[in-house]
Amino acid sequence: MKPDNKKAKILMEGVTTITPEMIKKANREMARRYTGRSEYSLKGVKNAVCPACENASMDYAENLVFDITLAGMGMVISNLSGIRCRKCAEISFDAKSIKIIDKYMMV
Ligand SMILES: [Zn+2]
Repeated sequence: MKPDNKKAKILMEGVTTITPEMIKKANREMARRYTGRSEYSLKGVKNAVCPACENASMDYAENLVFDITLAGMGMVISNLSGIRCRKCAEISFDAKSIKIIDKYMMV
């Protein structure tokens, strides 16, 4: 009689085994959620709360400009969409614009 072995077997049966299939499924689920979020558009947004000045004064705009200086080289990307604060000019780009900016940054 080996009671210890029997106990161990019962414990094993009670544990949910995480299979590679389960991990794959979870990864797919995460990817789908991420994709869904990245397609989110800010179009039509009005009076959103500004993260910088905390006024409800951010509106959707399609004429936003992103400019940055990298290694001494200036870069300007215009006609980006997102939201802009009327009070402090804080800008939040939407997913589409972030993709465009990312593309330029990787060059
Ligand atoms: Zn602001």
